[in-house]
Amino acid sequence: MVRFNPKARLDQSRVRDAGSGGGGGGLGGGGLGGGGMRLPIPTGRGGIGTLVILVILFLVARCAGVDLGLGGAAQVYSPTRLSDAQEGGDRYADCKTGEDANNSQDCARVAIENSLTDYWDSELGGKFRPEEAMVTFSGSVDTGCGAATSNVGPFYCPSDESIYLDTTFFDDVLEGQLGGPDGSFVEFYVLAHEYGHHISNLLGFMGQVKGGTGPQSDGVRLELQADCYAGLWANHATKTEDASGEVLILDLTQQDIDEAIAAAKAVGDDYIQKRSGGRVNEEAWTHGSSEQRKKWFMVGYEQGSLDACDTFSADRV
Ligand SMILES: [Zn+2]
Repeated sequence: MVRFNPKARLDQSRVRDAGSGGGGGGLGGGGLGGGGMRLPIPTGRGGIGTLVILVILFLVARCAGVDLGLGGAAQVYSPTRLSDAQEGGDRYADCKTGEDANNSQDCARVAIENSLTDYWDSELGGKFRPEEAMVTFSGSVDTGCGAATSNVGPFYCPSDESIYLDTTFFDDVLEGQLGGPDGSFVEFYVLAHEYGHHISNLLGFMGQVKGGTGPQSDGVRLELQADCYAGLWANHATKTEDASGEVLILDLTQQDIDEAIAAAKAVGDDYIQKRSGGRVNEEAWTHGSSEQRKKWFMVGYEQGSLDACDTFSADRV
């Protein structure tokens, strides 16, 4: 379990809650990939490992086609910004210290965002700027990539450089079913993956993506790069200092890493295709196979080097 430094100060400035939007958004509907991946939510506390995998399957199956608009979904890229009306109350107002993050999953989300920002700032230097916002919502939300409903799952929108997370889902499933604020590393892996897309955007890799699908496609290389960046952050997380020189994440255990690896494997396109009852069709892959995703998370985690995550230069990924 991740343990945060109780003395560290949290910076809430980029994390905000858009509240619960009503009505359907333009991105909803069946075209977003993984349309058949509704998550059966068990009522008991058994089968947590399976549930974690189902959660991730759901999350990232939804992510396909949404997170970068590579999946043929109807994406509306317009320069709309969040209106004030959408900025919900002060869900994160009480998230002030690492102690708060140890006691609240909402504050843990802020802390992970801070850790990701601090790490990438130190790694990229002058090329870095933080994501514009990490926005939680329930129901629906307007984004620079169009309106999104809860069922799209977490995604990064390059037009407004923001990460969007449906927390109804995190609340009901990750926290409710998996045991409260301790949660699991699964959500943090998802945050680190989405932040990884922001890094690929800053470094210009995203602009190299021409589209297409399949195990060696540009789109898959970009997704594997985000997995690698998640691993890279995990490698450095307990060594990363904030602006005042405090290390924010004191512990990140082998169990956390194992959960991230299991999650990375569970979102492999081949695994998802099998689970949804279809045959494995490599040509349709958008995020990479289970083996590819595990491999690239581990490349980042074990090598700890930015250059190792250049999936675009690799002969094969
Ligand atoms: Zn992604």
